[in-house]
Amino acid sequence: MSTVTPMMAQYLEIKEAHPDALLFYRMGDFYEMFFEDAVNAAEALDIALTKRGKHNGIDIPMCGVPVHSAEGYLLTLIRKGFRVAVCEQLESPAEAKKRGSKSVVKRDVVRLVTPGTLTEDALLEARRHNFLAAYSQVRDEAALAWTDISTGAFHVMPLATVRLSPELARLAPSELIVADGTEQMLQEPVRDLGISLTPVGRASFDSTAAEKRICGLFHVGALDAFGNFGRAEISAMGALIDYLEITQKGKLPLLQTPLKESEDRVVQIDAATRRNLELTRSLSGGRAGSLLSVVDRTVTPGGARLLEQRLSSPSRNLDVIHARLDAVSFAAEDSLIASDLREALRKTPDLDRALSRLSLERGGPRDLTAIRNGLTQAVAIAGICEGQDLPILLATALQNLVGFDDLLNLLDEALIAEPPLLARDGGFIAPGFDAELDEARTLRDEGRSVIAGFQQKYAEHTGITSLKIKHNNVLGYFIETTATHAEKMLSLPFSETYIHRQTTANQVRFTTVELSEIETRILNAGNLALEIEKRLYQRLSDEILDRAARLNQAARGLAELDLTTSLSDLARGESWCRPQVDSSRSFEVEGGRHPVVEYALRQQGGDAFIANDCDLSAVDGAAIWLLTGPNMAGKSTFLRQNALIALLAQMGSYVPAEQAHIGVVSQLFSRVGASDDLARGRSTFMVEMVETAAILSQADDRALVILDEIGRGTATYDGLSIAWATLEHLHAANQCRALFATHYHELTALAGSLEGVDNATVAVKEWEGEVIFLHEVHKGAADRSYGVQVAQLAGLPASVVERARVVLDQLEKTEREGGKQKTLIDDLPLFSAAPPPPPPAPKATPVTDMLDEILPDELTPREALDLIYKLKEAA
Ligand code: ADP
Repeated sequence: MSTVTPMMAQYLEIKEAHPDALLFYRMGDFYEMFFEDAVNAAEALDIALTKRGKHNGIDIPMCGVPVHSAEGYLLTLIRKGFRVAVCEQLESPAEAKKRGSKSVVKRDVVRLVTPGTLTEDALLEARRHNFLAAYSQVRDEAALAWTDISTGAFHVMPLATVRLSPELARLAPSELIVADGTEQMLQEPVRDLGISLTPVGRASFDSTAAEKRICGLFHVGALDAFGNFGRAEISAMGALIDYLEITQKGKLPLLQTPLKESEDRVVQIDAATRRNLELTRSLSGGRAGSLLSVVDRTVTPGGARLLEQRLSSPSRNLDVIHARLDAVSFAAEDSLIASDLREALRKTPDLDRALSRLSLERGGPRDLTAIRNGLTQAVAIAGICEGQDLPILLATALQNLVGFDDLLNLLDEALIAEPPLLARDGGFIAPGFDAELDEARTLRDEGRSVIAGFQQKYAEHTGITSLKIKHNNVLGYFIETTATHAEKMLSLPFSETYIHRQTTANQVRFTTVELSEIETRILNAGNLALEIEKRLYQRLSDEILDRAARLNQAARGLAELDLTTSLSDLARGESWCRPQVDSSRSFEVEGGRHPVVEYALRQQGGDAFIANDCDLSAVDGAAIWLLTGPNMAGKSTFLRQNALIALLAQMGSYVPAEQAHIGVVSQLFSRVGASDDLARGRSTFMVEMVETAAILSQADDRALVILDEIGRGTATYDGLSIAWATLEHLHAANQCRALFATHYHELTALAGSLEGVDNATVAVKEWEGEVIFLHEVHKGAADRSYGVQVAQLAGLPASVVERARVVLDQLEKTEREGGKQKTLIDDLPLFSAAPPPPPPAPKATPVTDMLDEILPDELTPREALDLIYKLKEAA
């Protein structure tokens, strides 16, 4: 005999359709989870796991979360990598009863919540995009499509397979959809970037079906309307749309028409470079300490999202860069207008996200007022700019803000100033907007005052002054007296008028015929008012959605204005300069600074930042600075600041320098020697070499390459040789502009023999045996590395420092005299107390035989690694 209750049968059926998601099963005011789901969710949410009934004789584990606080729990679950299927009751228990006494309330999943498909403000970071991406490969084509359903942005781009990882690093989507079976090869880049990987059926990626899906969504006959797309691009876009249909259960968000991007539009920056330069995240993972955190002066969420996007994707297009710079210049020069604009922008709500919630029917009255308030500010902003001769970018942004008068008037008349959160509670439509609504409300409110009159009348009639009329959901309106007065009410003549309803411990409750009548009237009027408000809500929402595409444009215009004025504010406040960007291969920075280090120094209230020049201009061939200097002198800071200046210039911002002339950079590479990268816990030297190999094979003559202590991760001579060969390759083959910091002083000799290679050093001063960092970069090579002094600064015991000095002196002296280090080590009484016993004469073993045969110079790193394994085996 089956022991499955009808409700459990329904649960199991729904669960079976959503095996990969936790099922939030609505029961009254709770979402309940059962079985495995309950066990997993209870652990992830740290809530109590209980039991409810039995299934086939075994207890059913259960846990639940209250509906009103479900968002917080959802967020935790999504962050922990779960997907959640939200299953709602589609009818009331009363309706279910009408179908039969044993009927279970109808339920179904209304939405699948995944990292890439969030729309609620509470679940999203206001100042960041939340991208959902799909990657598709069709034969030898590949493409990436991405969307932010909370703003409607929709993009697609063909790409070479090797470019997938850098593009993912640029966009940082929260979820990536791929075809079943291909997830294995994508695991590594995706894991490193913290992206949630979702394999879906291959049918989703079918490009013929995809084309139909896209045309259907945008109501066009053919895709040509939006551009020329390859099979892979169509397939990726189609998969995205299909996934949205599945997760949103048919309710599609308002996607903008697809925007085709191309790889050569933006500076190519790979994942390692982004991490290393700490563009939008610092090495420790947070926003604090990143470039983004110190340049962000935006005052709207849309502006902040645009800034992050620009910073992640600096342009290579001179027209685009100049247009943006012109806009910033305009705002920087007219600071009065700029500050008025910022004042108005500050009051502008997030139009994009309000729109998307309305389109997914997840909105409320506050989304309507967000649109109204946004448009009100748009009018104010247009007023501020009136009569100004605006640069093209701002003029276009401004054009997008106007033309909403009819909508704005409608919303202004229809909505109160600060409405409640939920449409179902009513009370958001302004009085005077709809006659029928006003009438229903008057009836409802009059009823209430009639009731107040009744209370007085009944008190006088019975002589019981403490008599009250109250209301609850079970009895509706009722008259209440204390038990002591009840006797009187229950006896004649009062018992003719007052009908007994209920006796509680201390109170007795009555009703009257007229009270019941007025109650029905109030109820009907109240319900009618709610009905009308709901209808009006829908009408307003439709009016807004009819103009969705233009409203998106307006939002974009506001974001552009915000970004422009925030960059001008930054430029003025920090004395940044407008860079000259052109198609030359110049790279001249005067008085450059590192914005994040400068900010940190200021916060600490310590020394001021020392500005430095850099000149990597090249006509043809390479231009490379070889930077030497002791640790802590400021080499890394100098390297990075120049990369950041190029990047800021090409995103269209002023730069932290007195003057800068940047010939467009097409690719930006930055690598740090392995020992800085220990935290990542891989074979770090191997990683360093793989990454360096990537640069040497990819960098072209428009690349800017920053190499910090490459080769450090291995033994001295290996490291030196690798650094040497790398530098030669950059010079001869890549012919790029590069900064190369190294502690191998031997390399400085190369400056003499390779044209375009110059030495530079970060100056230090020695004073009474101590080293003082000047942080000044000069042409020329460092004479020594001051390692011992730095060690002393770091607090190494005095005896050790003293001893190191002696050893160093001897080593240097011997080298000057051309002696052998072997004899030197013999000369130095290293263990003067107890000299080590002489080593036994080496015996020939398989290992020594193998060693004899090795020619280190001819080994690749891979062969070297293999050899080490072989040697270990033989030992
Ligand atoms: P290196 O790479 O030579 O070891 P860093 O670039 O890491 O040195 O700099 C070490 C520290 O020196 C920085 O954290 C910063 O506090 C300080 N510093 C670096 N450059 C400057 C500068 N130009 N002006 C002032 N302080 C600086």
